[in-house]
Amino acid sequence: MKTKKISEDNGKKIYETENETQLIQVFKDDLIIKNGNKISVPNKGAINNAISSYLFRILDSYHIPNHFLKQLSNREMLVRKLHMIPISVFVHNIAAGRLVKFFAIHEGKELDCPIIEYHLKGGEKEDTMVNEDHIISFGHASSEELKEIHRLSSKVNAILKEIVRRRGFRLVNLKLEYGRRDTQILLGDEISADTCSLWDLQGNSKFDSRMASKSVDQIADEYQSIKKRFFMES
Ligand code: ADP
Repeated sequence: MKTKKISEDNGKKIYETENETQLIQVFKDDLIIKNGNKISVPNKGAINNAISSYLFRILDSYHIPNHFLKQLSNREMLVRKLHMIPISVFVHNIAAGRLVKFFAIHEGKELDCPIIEYHLKGGEKEDTMVNEDHIISFGHASSEELKEIHRLSSKVNAILKEIVRRRGFRLVNLKLEYGRRDTQILLGDEISADTCSLWDLQGNSKFDSRMASKSVDQIADEYQSIKKRFFMES
């Protein structure tokens, strides 16, 4: 079914298929940790594919248009081909990471309302935070499309917050990517342990796999425990 590989990054390989409207995402085990080193975390790809497939199906039932078609295998997901908008949309619920660094708020502070941020995807360079004017002026999306992206991101965040809360997690922040199919905006990419930042509801234990101080085994265990909780396995 896979024909030509069209991209490969740390998270996934993307292949064209015999059907020109569909792509296959292959989830990888590679992970870049905070010191910049690349490691391979056994089973990470399969776990992210399982969680993403599960969440896309749920979002579908809440009428969030998305690219998911089918989970093909452990690591492979069949999706609708989109014309991607080169923006990462971050939704923050709790102050952590960059928010703490740039705005001098206490880590762990519950934000009065979710903050939606746009970051221009920069290839090899670090992503740059931009506002709506940059995105419109650079021709990446129209004002109507951005309104739709904002509306969908708020809704996805509210749905996911509740789903992860029932599994004992706080949704600290999440990253979303969108694309166009004809004139419709659809949610693409993945929603997984790599794109959601989760903390334990009890206490403040952080599932931060990118911490350089952790061993590969510890990181692999962390992904496994997130998966167990997601699928309520004992
Ligand atoms: P990153 O998302 O950090 O760029 P990935 O390894 O996850 O790295 O790469 C996946 C690539 O595939 C991204 O460039 C993403 O925008 C793109 N992509 C995701 N979903 C689709 C889709 N449905 N159609 C086309 N491209 C997609």
